[in-house]
Amino acid sequence: MLKSLDALIDLQKIDAEIHALQQQTNSIDKDIENRKNKLSVTETESGPIRDKYKDMEASISENNLDIQTREDRIKKLKELLKDESRPKEVAAIDAQIKTFSKEINEKREKKKRMEKDLEKMQADFDRVNALFEEQQSEIKNLENTRTERLKEIEKSIAALDKQRTVYTTQTEQHILDLYDTIRRKYPDNAIVSINNNACGGCYLTLPPQEVNNIMLNDKINRCVQCGRVLYYIP
Ligand SMILES: [Zn+2]
Repeated sequence: MLKSLDALIDLQKIDAEIHALQQQTNSIDKDIENRKNKLSVTETESGPIRDKYKDMEASISENNLDIQTREDRIKKLKELLKDESRPKEVAAIDAQIKTFSKEINEKREKKKRMEKDLEKMQADFDRVNALFEEQQSEIKNLENTRTERLKEIEKSIAALDKQRTVYTTQTEQHILDLYDTIRRKYPDNAIVSINNNACGGCYLTLPPQEVNNIMLNDKINRCVQCGRVLYYIP
């Protein structure tokens, strides 16, 4: 077989491996991108559930603070009461304590209602949080393995590139250029064998004389229809 034809066939095998490795990189990136999109959908959809829950939590703690403030006020008023002997003042302080106590009772009732509501929201809130965290950690894991995997892929590609030069150095430049040109159109099969007297790329049936020429494998023959380089496997 013509040496440069032989080299092209080997070169194509190496390039196919390189291409497959590059596609692996792409598919890892695509997977991560898809998951990030899903995560952002989860975030959007779970937004109202989280907001509602957080609002309720905030209302509860605000209400607790209101209760605390009133309890503190009552304590201080009771201290005042100890020192107060004027009946008018005593009555005014008592009235204030009564008002605060009433408010405290109302706020305690409110607290019970709000805590019940919060309990009802809990399952939904936990569910969306768990989903979000799960999706987030999946992405993180993938990103970690991606770094490792990319290193491996780069290493493999570097090794294949080295192998590649073995063949490119023994092939004439114009043949390499031809190969590159055809490869732009047909990345995976710029060089094809003939099968049953037809081009292995576009399946055009070739004239018998052409088949005879190709069967010699002693020069670069190209398909008249697709332009691929043709060779014969005995
Ligand atoms: Zn063809």
